[in-house]
Amino acid sequence: MSFSNPQDRYRCFRCGLSDRVEKAEVSQRIESPRPPVFGTPLVYQSPWGCFSGGFVFLSFVAFLFLLVAYIANASSLIGNPQDILPSLLVSLFFSIIAVFVVIHHTQKAKNDRIEVARVNAEQSNRNKVVQKVYDHEKYIYDQLYYCGRDNVVFILEKPETCVPVSEVERLYQTL
Ligand SMILES: [Zn+2]
Repeated sequence: MSFSNPQDRYRCFRCGLSDRVEKAEVSQRIESPRPPVFGTPLVYQSPWGCFSGGFVFLSFVAFLFLLVAYIANASSLIGNPQDILPSLLVSLFFSIIAVFVVIHHTQKAKNDRIEVARVNAEQSNRNKVVQKVYDHEKYIYDQLYYCGRDNVVFILEKPETCVPVSEVERLYQTL
């Protein structure tokens, strides 16, 4: 086959003619591969909020304040440390809870960060695969010609690629 005449290049491998042949994307008879849609990555959210942060802060401040007051009273003859003791014990109780809150939130923050990174890495890998598949299909699609007489597609100079339109997916998978 000589390609000196450009028309020859567009000949359908089924009917041998070029009059009903056009680029697949021009013919619009074959759907262009759909571009991949990527989900938005997860965003890490701190477990700390106004309530938990405020509770921990106030518990520690109240305990320290009452402790200092208790020591001051105990070390001087002014005031009775026993008056402060109940409040000091209550603030100690809340401070112990606050310590558990800090431990729990610190652990949760660490785990959440790891989980978000893991999920996002997985998603990123999936996106890369999906993008690669799309790029390949688009690369093939952009080379396809369509013959309206035979309802076939093919790539120029590659007779083995001539298949019915319904089998275009096979080209994507095998080429
Ligand atoms: Zn044809």
